Amino acid sequence: MSGTGRTRVLVLNTGSSSVKYQLLDMADASRVATGLVERIGEDSARLAHTPAGGRERERPGPFPDVAAALRAVADELAADGTGFDAPDLAAVGHRVVHGGERFSGPVVLDDAAVAEIESLVPLAPLHNPGNLDGIRTATALAPGVPQVAVFDTAFHTTMPEYAARYAIDTATADEHRIRRYGFHGTSHAYVSRRTAELLGRAPEDVNVIVLHLGNGASASAVAGGVCVETSMGLTPLEGLVMGTRSGDIDPAVVLHLARNAGMSLDAIDTLLNKRSGLLGLCGDNDMREVTRRAAAGDGAARLALDVYTHRLKKYVGAYTAVLGRVDAVAFTAGVGENSPVVRAAVLAGLGGLGLVVDPDRNTAPDRGPRFISPEYAAVAVAVVPTDEELEIARQAYDLVSP
Ligand code: ADP
Repeated sequence: MSGTGRTRVLVLNTGSSSVKYQLLDMADASRVATGLVERIGEDSARLAHTPAGGRERERPGPFPDVAAALRAVADELAADGTGFDAPDLAAVGHRVVHGGERFSGPVVLDDAAVAEIESLVPLAPLHNPGNLDGIRTATALAPGVPQVAVFDTAFHTTMPEYAARYAIDTATADEHRIRRYGFHGTSHAYVSRRTAELLGRAPEDVNVIVLHLGNGASASAVAGGVCVETSMGLTPLEGLVMGTRSGDIDPAVVLHLARNAGMSLDAIDTLLNKRSGLLGLCGDNDMREVTRRAAAGDGAARLALDVYTHRLKKYVGAYTAVLGRVDAVAFTAGVGENSPVVRAAVLAGLGGLGLVVDPDRNTAPDRGPRFISPEYAAVAVAVVPTDEELEIARQAYDLVSP
């Protein structure tokens, strides 16, 4: 389709109360427009739209639902002379959180694919319904344009069965589709490939540990471009300490709270997903605030930071063992890209594994993909900014272009 001038992809990340979007031109991978609708369904709902090279435009709600929000996005794009019905639109790329076992890559959506995403709602009740609203509305707004789903789980479907299985009764696990799926896959795919590029080597020749540290956080072990382990599981709750999620925990804690603290399942769900992690440990979930307080001698913030980095260190060690040979460790997302304190603490003392952080490189105010290990280091340590929208656009575009 590139031959017919259809080079643009609209990337939609639709949640239950927000829509993030970017219109990209894949001829040169540039942004045409970016925007965000926040607080859908609330009185304070607003849309902020920024065309490339232009000023941000703000439009207040009400946007009672996702459909209303996306219609407002369509109006803003139309005001720029582009959008859902523009002749240059090659595809709409939807970020879909849960693709289960079936979707190992992007897919052009048809009724069967939408039904499969619907069947996964019990596994991703917070995310897949919003994603489906986005798909339905965008299909109505752009009926002739391929709608492509790019799944957060897809990159992890290559995990060997022994890594994806929980050691619980097989019949129960199979009946309820309980296994380790992993998330943030689009970011892990993008960052592992960019890290290979930074090393000047083909992805097939490189083993990388990717540490995606945003508000949610996950680690992955990528062997020759293929994911072999990741830290999130059935849901994004497993693994690393996150902004508000506990990460790994003895499952008996849940039983204990239900039986002995009289907490309902919903209350425990809220505790582990929304009131734990950094927030639970010290009252702040923003790493900037946690590191500032820790540096000022605040004991709770210090402990929160130590719990966070200790968990990461354990995963780096475990994934080194899983991979056998590690060529690079790559830090990405809000914390990974911006916190030299966290990066240094995670790898402190791991010189025996060939992992060393150069203090000057680590604290240099650079933004782009870069090494922070010294020249002589056995294993490269890199900071590689993630770009999930570009990766979604690329995957969608590759799928629909002849
Ligand atoms: P999300 O997971 O919501 O996409 P991001 O990847 O944008 O989030 O990461 C957001 C987090 O990044 C913030 O909560 C904050 O803790 C952290 N962060 C952003 N900038 C910095 C910084 N300069 N230093 C430390 N942490 C930062």
